[in-house]
Amino acid sequence: MNMISNHMPTAELQALDAAHHMHPFTTNNELAEKGARVITRAKGVTLTDSEGNDILDAMAGLWCVNLGYGRPELAEAAMRQMQELPYYNTFFMTTHVPAIALSAKLAELAPGNLNHTFFAGSGSEANDTNIRMVRTYWAELGKPEKKVIIARHNGYHGSSVGSASLGGMKPMHAQGGLPIPDMHHIGQPYWYGEGGDKSPEEFGLERAQELEAAINELGEDRVAAFIAEPIQGAGGVIIPPSTYWPEIQRICEKYEILLIADEVICGFGRTGNWFGSQTFGIRPDIMTIAKGLSSGYAPIGGSIVSDEVAKVMDACEFVHGYTYSGHPVACAVALENLRILEEEKIVEKAGAETAPYLKEKWQGLADHPLVGEAVIEGLMGSIALTPDKASRAAFAADAGTAGYVVREACFANSLVMRHTGDRMVISPPLVITKSEVDTLVERAWRALDFAHKKLS
Ligand code: PLP
Repeated sequence: MNMISNHMPTAELQALDAAHHMHPFTTNNELAEKGARVITRAKGVTLTDSEGNDILDAMAGLWCVNLGYGRPELAEAAMRQMQELPYYNTFFMTTHVPAIALSAKLAELAPGNLNHTFFAGSGSEANDTNIRMVRTYWAELGKPEKKVIIARHNGYHGSSVGSASLGGMKPMHAQGGLPIPDMHHIGQPYWYGEGGDKSPEEFGLERAQELEAAINELGEDRVAAFIAEPIQGAGGVIIPPSTYWPEIQRICEKYEILLIADEVICGFGRTGNWFGSQTFGIRPDIMTIAKGLSSGYAPIGGSIVSDEVAKVMDACEFVHGYTYSGHPVACAVALENLRILEEEKIVEKAGAETAPYLKEKWQGLADHPLVGEAVIEGLMGSIALTPDKASRAAFAADAGTAGYVVREACFANSLVMRHTGDRMVISPPLVITKSEVDTLVERAWRALDFAHKKLS
């Protein structure tokens, strides 16, 4: 076979890709027909494809490249670590400096008494850890029947069997017989789509109280934990009403239910603070982390747990672990990422300077005839596409169609935005400049104009 490289013609790369590469969340036959977009390099917030087009990545990859693309320091950190100790495990009474340093750094950054990290290779793996951890925690305390985990419809927690069971995505449950037993889902705090005539505050409270009703129905003695994303990301950037999280916190404390904040998207600056839990005043017992931890430069995730949870877990052998738990190269890359985020005050600047600017521009999209609402918190935002602003109606036929049309129009206008049903979402690298924000919003507006003509 010829050497496969960036210099090959796009059509040849696409043909090889279609012949041998099975893509996630993709109908591979459709991909074979249309040809995959081939991304060859990236710098800052800009991707370059195999045809030489520059594309503004308003998704930071998959919500992860918080630091922006092309920072050589991370490549150098990986190289140094690969030369010194490319791999060793953290099982069986062994450790190494990158895992020590990263867990200590995370204890410093994480709020409250979240001082202990169990590493994984991804967010899905970390949430699988959480399932086994909370059940083991209660079993160690003499309550093995406390096994049920309550999560939310339309939440996303990963693609492994356990994490997809925590998630509330119906199409994911339909494939492979999910969820696994002892999972329970309650409604999401999605006022725009489901709140009807209620005020957002009333609705937020109502949805939070579904947790209390579920605990009472299932029995307090059977419920181990509640898991949720501070802001639902993949579900469409659903920002909860202000009443939601304080009520969830009250209920978890009242019934002694462990609270897991899935910070895989919200963590490391996305909502304008280091963690989404800080933005919403949540006091979790466990936080799931991944993505922004290494800005996507290396695969790594983890569960940061409180002193209380660690105290119980530390007394037993947790019969759980991944070959790549605390992988030294991934830890070294994550540490370098955190060093730069801190030293260059990237999270603080994103929250104090970029976020208000982006908010003002983004909210302007609500004036577009196709847009029912434009919401944003920090650097994660969404717009709802609607054929009728007044009734907040969804597009009738296939809820994904309008979003798909806008997404493709964005690509045609050199912009990556993602869609979830009728919602378009953004989550740009935290380093996006004000002029790049202007470009993002101009291109989004142009894509919406095109889609509006096509859909009306
Ligand atoms: N949790 C949340 C909130 C996510 O958004 C994701 C991925 O998008 C995951 C967990 C799963 O992470 P990974 O894809 O690294 O397994």
